Amino acid sequence: MNELLMIPGPVEFEPAVLQAMATKTPSHISPDFIEVFGHSLERLREVFLTKEGQPFVVAGSGTLAMEMAAANLIEPGDKVLLVDTGYFSHRFASICERYGARVTQVGAKLGDVPSLQEVERSLAGAKYKLLLATHVDTSTGVLVDVASLGGLAHRYGALSVVDGVCATGGEEFRQEEWGIDICLTASQKALGVPPGLAILMVTPLALDLFRKRRTPVGNYYADFTNWLPIMEAYEARKASYFGTPPVNLIYALGESLDEILGQGMEARFQRHRIISGAFKAAMTALGLKQVPALEVAAHTMSAIYYPEEVGKELLGEIRERGVVVAGGLHPQIKERYFRVGHMGGISGSQILATVGAIEGALQASGYRLELGAGLVAAQKVLKGL
Ligand SMILES: *Cc1c(COP(=O)(O)O)cnc(C)c1O
Repeated sequence: MNELLMIPGPVEFEPAVLQAMATKTPSHISPDFIEVFGHSLERLREVFLTKEGQPFVVAGSGTLAMEMAAANLIEPGDKVLLVDTGYFSHRFASICERYGARVTQVGAKLGDVPSLQEVERSLAGAKYKLLLATHVDTSTGVLVDVASLGGLAHRYGALSVVDGVCATGGEEFRQEEWGIDICLTASQKALGVPPGLAILMVTPLALDLFRKRRTPVGNYYADFTNWLPIMEAYEARKASYFGTPPVNLIYALGESLDEILGQGMEARFQRHRIISGAFKAAMTALGLKQVPALEVAAHTMSAIYYPEEVGKELLGEIRERGVVVAGGLHPQIKERYFRVGHMGGISGSQILATVGAIEGALQASGYRLELGAGLVAAQKVLKGL
C-alpha cells in the first residue's frame, strides 16, 4: 500500500503523527494522557485563532461534529439559513431538520457561491437563529468567504456555524476576528490526524444560546452538557470521565497540532495557497477545466472535469501510477469530474508526483497533451514555497 493518498480526506499523515498514534495505550485518566489531552485542547484555540473559544474533541467523524452543533443549538421550530454549496450543505440541512429546524437555503449555480448581498437579503427576510455555511464544499471544491459571514449573521441577530471539515488547518480562518460562533471539523482532513475525531470550537455566545435552551438536547452522546465538564477538566489537568476518549488518536492530535503550530498558522495558510496554485496551474496547462470558478476555488482540494474524450477510467490509470485520487461526489455531475485533496502536511514533491501521474494517465486514456506541460506550470508556482 505504498500509494500516495491524494483524496479530500483522509490525507497522507506525517510519520511522527502515526508514531504518536502507536503509543502503548495508557489509561484515559493517566497523568501522561491528561497532559496530552489538556495540551491539545489549548493548542486547538491557536489553530482556530480564538482565545475565548471552548474546544470539544469527541470520538466520531466530521458528521458527528455537524450533529453536535445542530443538536445543541437547535430547538424545534427554529429557523436556520443555510448557504448551499453542495453535498455537505445538503447533509447539514438534513441534520438540522432532524432536530426540528426549519431550513431555508440560499444557493448559487453549481461551482459558485451566493453573493454576500444574496445572503444578506435572505437574512433580512426572516428572523433566523443560525446561519450555516460550509467553508470548503468537498463536492465542488468551492470556498465560501466565511470572513464576512460572522459579522453579517450578528447584524441580523443570528449566530454563525461553519463546517470547516475540509478547511480548518489549511484554509485561512480567524474565528475570533471573523466572529464565527461555532467552527467544526474532523481530524482526517487539513488537521492531519487519522479519522476518528470530531472537533468543535464554540464561542461563549454560542454556549450561552445552548444554556438558554427550553428543551433538553435530543441526543445523549452529542449533548454539550455531558462533554463540557470533561473538556474543562482535562484542560485543568484533572481526571474526568463521560465516555472513554480515543486515547491514541488524541496522542496523534497533540503531535499534529505541535507540528502545525511549529510552522505557524500564517505559514500554513500560505503553503496551502501555493500548493493549490501549483496544482491548479498544472491542470489549466493540461487543458482541463475545474468545477469551481477560479475566484471561489478552495486551497485544500481541487475538483476537475474529465476532458471530453476521457471518463472515470482515468482514476484507475492514475492509481496504476501510484496515486489515489477521488471520483465525483456532487450528484448532478458525479460521473464527469474527479477530486484531488492537497491539504495537511502536503509537500511540493507530492504535488509533482500527482501531476505526473495525471499526465501519464491522461495520455494512456487517449487524451492528447504535451507531457510535462503540467509539471512545468506547477514547478513555477512551487518556487514560492
Ligand atoms: C468530509 C466532510 C464532512 C464529513 O466528515 P466525515 O468525517 O466523513 O463524517 C463534512 N463536511 C465536509 C465539508 C467534509 O469535507
